[in-house]
Amino acid sequence: MIQRTLIDIQQMAGGEGLAAQYEDRSAAGVSTDSRSVLPGSLFIPITGENFNGHRFAEKALSEGAAAVLWAKKELNPPADAPVIFVEDTLAALQKLAKAYKEQLNVKVAGVTGSNGKTTTKDLLASALSPSFNVHKTKGNFNNHIGLPLTLLAMPENTEVAVLEMGMSSKGEIEFLSQLAQPDAAIITNIGESHLMDLGSREGIAEAKLEIASGLKEDGILFYFGDEPLLQERVPALSRKTMTFGETAENDLYPSDIVQSDAGVEFTVQPEGERFAVPVLGKHNVWNALAAIAVARHFGLKDEAIKKGLSSLAMTAMRLELLKSSKGWAVINDAYNASPTSMKAAIRLIEDLQGYSRKILILGDMLELGEQEAEFHEQTGEHISTGKTDHVFTYGKLGECIAAGAKKNLPDENVQSFTDKEELISAVKKFARPGDLFLVKASRGMKLEEAVEALQED
Ligand code: ATP
Ligand code: MG
Repeated sequence: MIQRTLIDIQQMAGGEGLAAQYEDRSAAGVSTDSRSVLPGSLFIPITGENFNGHRFAEKALSEGAAAVLWAKKELNPPADAPVIFVEDTLAALQKLAKAYKEQLNVKVAGVTGSNGKTTTKDLLASALSPSFNVHKTKGNFNNHIGLPLTLLAMPENTEVAVLEMGMSSKGEIEFLSQLAQPDAAIITNIGESHLMDLGSREGIAEAKLEIASGLKEDGILFYFGDEPLLQERVPALSRKTMTFGETAENDLYPSDIVQSDAGVEFTVQPEGERFAVPVLGKHNVWNALAAIAVARHFGLKDEAIKKGLSSLAMTAMRLELLKSSKGWAVINDAYNASPTSMKAAIRLIEDLQGYSRKILILGDMLELGEQEAEFHEQTGEHISTGKTDHVFTYGKLGECIAAGAKKNLPDENVQSFTDKEELISAVKKFARPGDLFLVKASRGMKLEEAVEALQED
């Protein structure tokens, strides 16, 4: 994490007004949350809609913060204390992070896309880990606050930072990219998340492509080449690019994909090298291809990449395969959902072998805007008879998934619930040894409760 004298921090953050007696004091790390102030850290108060972090500055100091930033317009700064004055604390946090990153000899990979950012970030970080000191975004710290905090948490000897870049509206990725100045940028795919804010899939594609704006001059944009909306727009960027995806038109594409409980194996074409990753789902093959392409770009040999990928440390709740003591298995993908990722997950479970029945428990996908009903119904239509045995839906929009599913499956094999207790009790009654369940919905639906119920002894 950043460790600098206060006078250096003042200069890096574009501040002023630090009293002379504190200039040589050091701060290590940054805290923005007054509930978890690290002793010796720099406290940066952030002002949100409902709270003003400045109110907690005194408390942070009394709990051991080495110094605080303070926005000049705020009244009553802590007296006789190590205070650095800035115009705007959020902008100062971002400026400090940028300056810190520029002082280190670190290469940056930025990952954006509608689905698969966290997974691809984890895959790439694993691929690089045996060969470099790697620092990666923790959890979902992928926005205008999380990304600078991620940079400031980097150890001084970091060689590669793998950063997730998220967004909910136009201009956000551009900002993050300019801040982090990636040497490699990845766009995993274009889906429907944030359709409400961006108006159309075209709008989403344009917003994701903003990641090229901060790319270093010799940096490369790696993107999912099977997405026409990206393909059409990339030439106008005049950047060096490489594509990955399912079809042979891509610079990297897979063949001979084999899925098992241990994960997925595939051959990377055109070179013909065989890789294995301990995650499920064909979409993870594309995510892995992106990671392999970037790891190669950073100079790694395939042997080293394979070793790294095999020791993947995943962020929880994404396509986790859990075995119950009662003899059934549950794929927990309750972390989030969009039509693209739900279809990918349905395809995965339908492809997995060795189970007597395949059962889907699908809940509402939130924030899809006006076309939400249609999206849910289309997702339901994606469910195939003969491959999926039974569908439980949960939530109001879940009923639209059910309507779509009934186009392929007999009505009696599709059940809808709006009461979670009722859903869980029906699912538990239904479960038999040998079954494979998929549980997926938007985070807000809290469908992990169904996963927990299926895991109970
Ligand atoms: P968030 O916006 O919440 O940060 P994310 O982009 O980080 O999401 P992940 O957490 O990696 O995405 O994966 C979320 C879901 O997307 C998973 O449930 C997974 O099934 C699906 N998914 C992952 N990669 C892809 C892909 N390349 N294409 C389609 N779906 C995918
Ligand atoms: Mg994520």
